[in-house]
Amino acid sequence: MSPAASAPPADWNARRLRAQKLLARRPQAAPLLEFLIELLELQRDLFAWAGGQDWLSAVAAAEGEFPRLRLARLPLEELSGRFSEFLERAAEIGTDVVRGLAENLTAQGTDSQRLVLAAYLAREPLDTLAKALGCDPLQLEFFPRAFAQPLAEALAAQAAQAAQTAKADGKPPEEWHENFCPVCGGPPQLAVLLDEALIKSRRLLECALCRTRWPFRRGLCPHCGEDKAEQLEIHTTEDLPHLRVEECKTCRGYLKAVDLRKDGLAVPLVDEIASIELDLWADERGLWKLQPNLVGI
Ligand SMILES: [Zn+2]
Ligand SMILES: [Zn+2]
Repeated sequence: MSPAASAPPADWNARRLRAQKLLARRPQAAPLLEFLIELLELQRDLFAWAGGQDWLSAVAAAEGEFPRLRLARLPLEELSGRFSEFLERAAEIGTDVVRGLAENLTAQGTDSQRLVLAAYLAREPLDTLAKALGCDPLQLEFFPRAFAQPLAEALAAQAAQAAQTAKADGKPPEEWHENFCPVCGGPPQLAVLLDEALIKSRRLLECALCRTRWPFRRGLCPHCGEDKAEQLEIHTTEDLPHLRVEECKTCRGYLKAVDLRKDGLAVPLVDEIASIELDLWADERGLWKLQPNLVGI
């Protein structure tokens, strides 16, 4: 039997091509997609670098423990130089806000940068650090998150490979019903709907950090656990038939789902960002997003 959770291949080229394709089709999301295309380049380099490092034994949880990876155990001294470099490159591609904040962080020096990275990896709130820098925590989070995401993805791939070699240890459990990633503990960014060989119309959640997907019951709010059908509403539009907003009326939260049965060429993380009008619509409706995406929407 195949493991319950798995990551789609880290195909950076496919992401870039999809973003370029949607850029031509979706002018309303153009600034976000242009930024994403540049960011993917930086992340691809980090992914390649992380793939060549030997961090897995340091971050792997004990046998049978989940999530499998403890990113807070990553060697900060080794990451620090790369993070500084990432900030400098992000300043070159970002919006005024990103550039200003990246320059601010660069000027603070490596100790402050390391604090930001350490807090993010340990899932601690960034409020105090953001206040000291005079910015919004969500804006500040962009940097450690965009930096850590390809690292987490590389580690998840290494962990999956190691688990395959060992034939058991480290494999995600067959049944995983939590609302966080079994591999890295990250929150779900979005849902994916697809047909599998044995199970039709399967709903999976995709991790915002390492991109692992794990099956999650349809008709269940990942945030508050609501499962009454009348409290869960799905919204679709004609313009974007393969996207939908999954609203929970109990906690007022929503996440977007990408229906790969309707568009098999979609790359969920890119299509989610490109469908910003659904987020604007949800915001007007008074809903909050369970997990803002990489570009802060
Ligand atoms: Zn994950
Ligand atoms: Zn809910």
